[in-house]
Amino acid sequence: MGEKGQAEKQERRRRAAAVAEILEKKYPDALCSLTYQKDYELLISVRLSAQCTDARVNIVTQTLFEQYPTLESFANANLEQLEQAVRPCGFYKVKAADIQNACRLLLERHGGHVPGTMEELLALPGVGRKTANLLLGDLFGQPGVVVADTHCIRIAGRLGLVDSADPAKVEQQLREVVAPDKSNDLCHRLVLFGREVCKARKPACGDCPLAQLCPYEKEQGALRQKAQ
Ligand code: SF4
Repeated sequence: MGEKGQAEKQERRRRAAAVAEILEKKYPDALCSLTYQKDYELLISVRLSAQCTDARVNIVTQTLFEQYPTLESFANANLEQLEQAVRPCGFYKVKAADIQNACRLLLERHGGHVPGTMEELLALPGVGRKTANLLLGDLFGQPGVVVADTHCIRIAGRLGLVDSADPAKVEQQLREVVAPDKSNDLCHRLVLFGREVCKARKPACGDCPLAQLCPYEKEQGALRQKAQ
């Protein structure tokens, strides 16, 4: 990497640290918005959250986790009944099958617990890097995890912390500029911030505590001035 590349990375690191500090003050509790009590329940909730809101998942799982109170009950469930139970989350057939097969594998291979390595997690049905990172961060407190979900990708791009919208690249680039002990909490905070302020369609730049740091806001401001 040339001098210019190094300087750019340094600048991204500085901006990422400032963003993390400001969002830490704004959202002191960097908690996952999915409700769960057991490790496998988080795995199930994350699977259900694909193409669905966390709020809806929490409504569905409130009943689901009562109906199926153990890992064994998911593993031995009647698949059609399980499909109906998760139907409000969409893509219910594939989600129900993934959940049941993942629960069976947890029992068969992992002593009834969610495993703690990326490799083992990726071998579970329905688990991709985003889910695996979330589980590693929230269940195991593993440093350096980056959950490249839709909010994270959008906001990191607007803030100029990454130059790609590809989840794998965003994950890698953020890992290079965010301190490992901050990255998991920062991703949770980006979700909250993305829902409240930096929305996909209409970011509330006028009320944004990150506006001074944000190239997107500066670009939009320049465009507005040009148009006047
Ligand atoms: S200034 Fe606007 S685009 Fe930038 S982070 Fe804030 S809300 Fe998002």
